[in-house]
Amino acid sequence: MKKIITLAFSLLFVGMNIYGQEVASTVVRCASDEYMKKMFEANPALKVQRQKDELLVQQGVDRLNSSKSAQMIFTIPVVVHVVYRTASQNISDAQVQSQIDALNEDFARLNADTVNTPAAFKPYARATNFRFCLAQQDTNGNPTNGIERRLTTTSSFSTNNGVKAYATGGLDAWDVNRYLNIWVCNMSGGVLGYGEFPLSAHTSTYGLVIQYNAFGRVGTLQATYNLGRTTVHEISHCFNLYHIWGDDGGTCGGSDYCPDTPNQGSENYGCRTYPYYDNCTTSGNGVMFMNYMDYSDDVCLNMFTTQQSFRMNSAMSQYYPTLLSSTACEAPTTGISNIDNYFNISAYPNPTDGIFNLDMFLTPSVIESLQLVVVDQTGRLIFEEKLSSPAGQVHQLDLRNQPSGVYTLTVFNDKVKRTFKIALVR
Ligand code: ZN
Ligand code: CA
Repeated sequence: MKKIITLAFSLLFVGMNIYGQEVASTVVRCASDEYMKKMFEANPALKVQRQKDELLVQQGVDRLNSSKSAQMIFTIPVVVHVVYRTASQNISDAQVQSQIDALNEDFARLNADTVNTPAAFKPYARATNFRFCLAQQDTNGNPTNGIERRLTTTSSFSTNNGVKAYATGGLDAWDVNRYLNIWVCNMSGGVLGYGEFPLSAHTSTYGLVIQYNAFGRVGTLQATYNLGRTTVHEISHCFNLYHIWGDDGGTCGGSDYCPDTPNQGSENYGCRTYPYYDNCTTSGNGVMFMNYMDYSDDVCLNMFTTQQSFRMNSAMSQYYPTLLSSTACEAPTTGISNIDNYFNISAYPNPTDGIFNLDMFLTPSVIESLQLVVVDQTGRLIFEEKLSSPAGQVHQLDLRNQPSGVYTLTVFNDKVKRTFKIALVR
């Protein structure tokens, strides 16, 4: 459902047109649902696959619910692609950093406004296990501040992903298996942002796009969307959260697959007064309009629930294990990219029914030993092996005792690292 609020008489949102005049405008808080619907229409198989994946996501959530151990904390390397046409769209490094700070507070539930979470909802509120950094090394292993900029001739970008490719006036994604890609630009139609849900077939469009003046919490900002929570919301879509009202057009049959969020008819705007009841929740604690997956103003959002936190954890372990183990938050080791040139590995046949041959081409003087690690789609370690003197070897990786499925193989030592998907089919 496309929801537009018109703020023609409000000073809260004032856009600049290309002649520099201030124009009243409309705001589309989030276009992710429409974006994914278009994607599924173009490729119906994607939707079928996601429905299959959902079972695995929920199995992972079940495991987290029954686990007594603390969740592992994952720090996600972020690259911010700033695509600008005017000086004000070229947001400062400080504005970018302020968004990372906001993410680290909100995802860790360290935000000062947790005091505004109603007492009745506090038992359901929970920190997630995600933290974020600006990438410290680029795709070639060279130093970076995690921010990339381009002056474009495109005055605004729509949800057709034009901003995600250099050829269409934007900037190309960095390897989605190692970086969370965020594009910041001027969006058309008053859209504040959209995120792509994770897909098991990885795309170079995975990530999120945010309107430049709704990004971060210092610098060039709209008054109502000035606490970085548009980005919190869109990243959550990228991490597999649905809208809290279930995207069912105001009825009560839709679900966000999180049993601890109250049933809700539609999205809320502005700032509701607690408790607020709607057509789906008419008594008790009311609806959770202060949840990051609703549409309330930034200042009124302050919580994720436990089940939302577990859902993101399960989904990302399943879809993007290599993003969770990416080392791009660390400053590059001197010379690593040179060594990289002398390291090559291939696994064949892939898929196989049990044994992979790992063909390793590498330089013995710099690579004395290698560690092999295989994890399944839930991120569970299923195999580990250390190889000494691997140079020139064809090593056999024996997974005959494992069930069919897709696994992630990581081969690494302190100087190099290669990660790839391998599949067992019987
Ligand atoms: Zn949304
Ligand atoms: Ca609903």
